Amino acid sequence: MMFDLNGRVALITGSSRGIGFALAEGLGKAGARLVINGRSEAAVHAACGRLVEAGLVATPSVFDVTDPQGVAEAVAAIEADVGAIDILINNAGIQHRAPLQDFPVEAFRNVLETNLFSAFYVGQAVARCMIPRRRGSIVNICSVQSELGRASIAPYTASKGGLKMLTKGMAVDWGPHGIRVNGLGPGYFKTELNDALVKNEEFTAWLTKRTPLGRWGNVDELIGAALFLASDASSFVTGHVLYVDGGITSSL
Ligand code: NAP
Repeated sequence: MMFDLNGRVALITGSSRGIGFALAEGLGKAGARLVINGRSEAAVHAACGRLVEAGLVATPSVFDVTDPQGVAEAVAAIEADVGAIDILINNAGIQHRAPLQDFPVEAFRNVLETNLFSAFYVGQAVARCMIPRRRGSIVNICSVQSELGRASIAPYTASKGGLKMLTKGMAVDWGPHGIRVNGLGPGYFKTELNDALVKNEEFTAWLTKRTPLGRWGNVDELIGAALFLASDASSFVTGHVLYVDGGITSSL
């Protein structure tokens, strides 16, 4: 029962595919009413359709997490039309790979805006609604790159390292208002974001050797941790980052 999400409303950003979609499905199966997000209207509606077909309750909300005005309007509309948001998963994220000496300034800004600033924009808009109710759980999707660097993705590493510390900052500021904020740090999972790596056999060989559990993660393996952090099962846990990485961050 601790993991039961019946009666809760969960907004998952970037849930039209990949990790966000898997987490939405997992939270939905635990009873949550879902709000599905992304920038592509067609993709968001298609994802909602698949969830509704599976017997879950899902509402589309198309907005760009990097637009603070659009975020505020979308959160107000969700609160009015779907109900009070109990759970926010800040999941939307992008990757851009280039050697740092060649990294375009605009691409750096875009990675930081999408992966880090967005958690502030959406987190603040949702926390302003949660504070008077004195309850809520926010989960920021971090990464093993919250801890570890890797060639050609320094801005992504900066964004996810920043997100880890924003998680702690949010937990400290909003804990007194009854809101818990935690991070979930995935290792390597086969999604569109990692398409270039999935297609690279050399990378898979390296990853298999580098990961104590010896393989890529399956997105469904993130659901247990997300459910734990979103639900009352973690009622005294805040400011924590839970890594689901096959052991990568524990090994050298
Ligand atoms: P993905 O398959 O590329 O999906 C990304 C999702 O975010 C899509 O729904 C995308 O939809 C949405 N999105 C991107 N930019 C957005 C924006 N500005 N506003 C609203 N929605 C936006 O990526 P993923 O692999 O599932 O990654 C999800 C999260 O997990 C990211 O934060 C990523 O950094 C993190 N992560 C992934 C891995 C992994 O192995 N895959 C590992 C560690 C951490 P639209 O493009 O249509 O907007």
